[in-house]
Amino acid sequence: MSTLSIKKLVKKYGQFEALKSIDLEVEQGEFVVFVGPSGCGKSTLLRSIAGLESITSGTIELADRLINDVEPSKRGLAMVFQTYALYPHMTVRDNMGYSLKLAKMSKSEIAEKVEAAAEKLQLSPYLDRKPFALSGGQRQRVAIGRAIVRNPKLFLFDEPLSNLDAALRVQMRLEIAQLSQMLPETTMIYVTHDQVEAMTMADRIVVLRDGAIEQVGTPLELFQSPANIFVAQFIGSPKMNIFGERFAKDFSAHSIGVRPEHLTVGDEGIWSGQVVRVEQLGSDAFIHVDIGQEEFVTVRHVGITQITLGANIRFTPQDGQVLRFDRAGKRLDE
Ligand code: ATP
Repeated sequence: MSTLSIKKLVKKYGQFEALKSIDLEVEQGEFVVFVGPSGCGKSTLLRSIAGLESITSGTIELADRLINDVEPSKRGLAMVFQTYALYPHMTVRDNMGYSLKLAKMSKSEIAEKVEAAAEKLQLSPYLDRKPFALSGGQRQRVAIGRAIVRNPKLFLFDEPLSNLDAALRVQMRLEIAQLSQMLPETTMIYVTHDQVEAMTMADRIVVLRDGAIEQVGTPLELFQSPANIFVAQFIGSPKMNIFGERFAKDFSAHSIGVRPEHLTVGDEGIWSGQVVRVEQLGSDAFIHVDIGQEEFVTVRHVGITQITLGANIRFTPQDGQVLRFDRAGKRLDE
């Protein structure tokens, strides 16, 4: 059963269509990530679900209730922002119970709900601490705990990690992914422009571009079976190589795509070019090759490569790892 059902959602700012007829179903308990380049409409979509933007047409249903015109606080969802906005002078227990206290719930009932949420979130040992004495991940969990006690049907996260440094991002990414495992009944939607974040956290990814959905699928579906060149190049790092007609004609396509890790260097290689740059990361190396006519290819080598700048190398795509695309960039074969 869908928790969230969006049909033909259009959002216009004046004449500009920020969302162009979005259809999307999200199941209960899913962790869905909206991803896409800057300006593609992912925040607008999230904010429309939250009720922070009015929509131009279409419908949004949450738990079988039409919520188009329901005000944000009455939608039964919780939005988690970059700053967790915990009250610094209150303990974890009081932070988590605050909204229930405002709602005039009895002390014993508040204690019961807070303790149950703390248990789920593995926060029980920290209930009497104040936020300054917690790690970033624990603070995030308190922010979520504060929402959980109100029993939301849906959590919305808008780029919660974008202000953090790289190491902390990786740690918090793990924390949020674990959080969603701790709360298997809770549906979560997470917005990011970072495809690595999307790949590592999502049950399903929604790839957006220019206000429309390009593809919806599990991380591996998008990686292995992209619907078009845009998705093929957006998912995966370094991005997929796209070869023009001079290479693609042997495969009866307008263009072909091969991921850097699916190219093997060797004397029998069917393609060749000159190495213009070698990036040694230790764990792997990225070899950038000029194949003429202003086309460049990246080859990924596991470990340290002996190939040096200026070398002429031959390389070949691995069996079954060539994706074919038509003139419009749509994937053939699928
Ligand atoms: P980013 O990753 O940069 O945050 P995004 O994918 O979240 O981008 P949105 O913020 O949803 O993009 O914006 C989608 C499009 O709508 C953009 O082209 C943006 O310029 C436009 N837009 C957003 N808000 C308004 C507004 N209030 N008035 C006019 N245009 C807007």
